[in-house]
Amino acid sequence: MKALELENVNKFYKLANKQKFKALDNINVSFDKGELVSIVGESGSGKSTLMNIIGGLDSDYSGKIKIDGKDLKKFKQKQLDDYRKMKIGFVFQSFNLIPHLSILDNVTIPLTLSNEKESVKTQKATILLEKLGLKEHLKKKPNQLSGGQKQRVAIARALINDPDIILADEPTGALDSSTTLQILDILKEIADDGKLVIMVTHSEKVAKISSRIIEISDGKIIRDEKNENYAKGSTLINGDKNPIVIESEKSNKKIKKEKTNSTKGHLSFLSSLKLAFHSMWASKTKNFLMALGVSISLISMILMLSFGSGLTGYISSQAQAYSSPTNVTISKSNYDRDGNKLDGADMSMMSPKTFSNDEIEEISNDINAFLKGKSSDFVIKTSGEDKNLSYGYSAMTMSIASITYDNGSENGKTDQIIYSYTTPPYYTEKKILSKNGHISKEKEIMLSSACLEFFGVKDYDDVVGKEVSLSINFPVNNTSINITKNVKVSAVVDVSIFSQMLVMYVDYDYLNSCVIEAQESSNLDATGISPSLLFIETDGQKTTDLINSYIKSSRKDLSGSVEEQLVEMFNEMMSTFSIALAVIAGISLIVALIMILVVLYMSVSERTREIGVLKSIGARGKDIKLIFSTESLLIGIFSGITGIIFSAVIGGILSAILKSILGFAPIAMMWYYFVFALIISVVISVLAGLYPASKASKLDPVDALRHD
Ligand code: ADP
Ligand code: MG
Repeated sequence: MKALELENVNKFYKLANKQKFKALDNINVSFDKGELVSIVGESGSGKSTLMNIIGGLDSDYSGKIKIDGKDLKKFKQKQLDDYRKMKIGFVFQSFNLIPHLSILDNVTIPLTLSNEKESVKTQKATILLEKLGLKEHLKKKPNQLSGGQKQRVAIARALINDPDIILADEPTGALDSSTTLQILDILKEIADDGKLVIMVTHSEKVAKISSRIIEISDGKIIRDEKNENYAKGSTLINGDKNPIVIESEKSNKKIKKEKTNSTKGHLSFLSSLKLAFHSMWASKTKNFLMALGVSISLISMILMLSFGSGLTGYISSQAQAYSSPTNVTISKSNYDRDGNKLDGADMSMMSPKTFSNDEIEEISNDINAFLKGKSSDFVIKTSGEDKNLSYGYSAMTMSIASITYDNGSENGKTDQIIYSYTTPPYYTEKKILSKNGHISKEKEIMLSSACLEFFGVKDYDDVVGKEVSLSINFPVNNTSINITKNVKVSAVVDVSIFSQMLVMYVDYDYLNSCVIEAQESSNLDATGISPSLLFIETDGQKTTDLINSYIKSSRKDLSGSVEEQLVEMFNEMMSTFSIALAVIAGISLIVALIMILVVLYMSVSERTREIGVLKSIGARGKDIKLIFSTESLLIGIFSGITGIIFSAVIGGILSAILKSILGFAPIAMMWYYFVFALIISVVISVLAGLYPASKASKLDPVDALRHD
């Protein structure tokens, strides 16, 4: 049985205009083991085409190719992959080594593609490279070697799987004459060792040393001669055994025993990671710049999220500080019970919406019924000894409201107070900033620290107990009621979120009596004020939470305290803002994705030849896909980490700056933002890598090898 037989092999190349070009014309030839065959012929005669078909790189032919009697056409994909990997060793004119891998790694690539153990790989490759005189160059990169050395590396790579057939397409075409002899010697040695070596050459001189010469012209075999003078076992350089010898049998015994014609495994993820890392390292500047680009969108995403949650957190913590666990504050919202927005609702701050007695009864009954359903013992009582519902009133008094304080030495200073508020029942002395002072009662007022700043008073205690004159236009029942009074400052207080605002607090009943007095003197109905706020003193946090959640879910017409309303308004603003940010972040991530896609796509075309080489030494489409996908994964991880580091640094610096300016830093960098960014980065990179990886995997090996 012949090692290799070709029967009536024809090959047509399809041309653009539906025409066909006949590159191989009815080839009938067979080969034995141990032959060193030279294929000669003019350029374009079909030599490479023949080699590619024999090597299993090109399956688009007619006729039969039999390997050890088996028809190559009948091979399944896996058998064909194994055939290329295990049975054939390719050597090319231009060496086709992978530039970013070391000599050792180049030689072991075919084993890496079979998931061979690291120790076995190194052992096999080292033995081969030593025999080929490359012992000192294992760690070098291909471009650190001479042409002859590179070709010896390529031969070592072709031999590593101990194939039966070596196909060498013009192996000496790029070498000078003395190096040519060395390489020919090696090929002869391999043939004499019992393998079939088929070599394409231009040079009759080279052809003369082989055991058989086949000449091709226009796709036809026109000459097939045995060389009677072929001396098996001799070398060309000194006619004697040369030191560069493939002694095989003995020293290769251990390896030989393991010889199989099918592979045990495929390229592992770990090996692919190593390959990807090497190739990325080879173009590290490009990859770093790309990662930087991707990380910028991650940085902006992380910082936006951190800023959003920092601000929201700060605002709600300020509101929290103001609230009491045993208090529920109820006001009217800008909506009716069905959730429709009320007319003029946005002016509510200036003209407070008040509760009538009936409404107060209705709300209390409603909440009581709810609490009963939740088997809570708490009951709202609107009157009587154990009454736990009290009233409040708040209004923005934009203009014509003034407060005058005369601190003796200075002249009095007058300006508008923009916020008037009745003191909530739970208002504790803890809020008092001045050393002395108490919660305001009749004929008293509490002022926010901003008021004191406005008066130019540094020492809060100076003001406590002093009289101020108050002139205020108060909106009551849609009528402006002017109240002019001299009142004593009972304390300077902390007003949390409103710390920058001028706020005054008065007692509800006192305010009511002032309003009645003013109404009477203006000949109006002495209605007094109706509450715009209802305070429920509960029995604890649990009840407070229950009522609050009920109001939130079932009473769209009601809302919380002014602080809560403010927090809600802020959150609403933030969520609108967040959507805008998400859109921007989304766009920048798409830009990043396209950028990665472009870079990877370009890298596929840059590395077309490398892909062709990998395929010619047995890489499956899947293996190529894995290598490129692993690269995109690495890009994702690297960009993610770069983004995280930069975000942390920038966020930290920003925090410090804001803290020194504002006294607090509204930046909350949560650990999960970083995890999220990393995941996003990996996902977009892998997504971006899908198309280039699949393109790479589908490249035709013959086209890829012709690519330059
Ligand atoms: P050689 O290796 O002997 O120089 P080739 O086998 O490379 O020749 O090419 C044989 C012929 O086939 C040439 O005329 C070449 O132009 C043609 N050929 C090779 N590849 C293609 C292709 N992909 N499409 C069309 N024609 C091709
Ligand atoms: Mg050629």
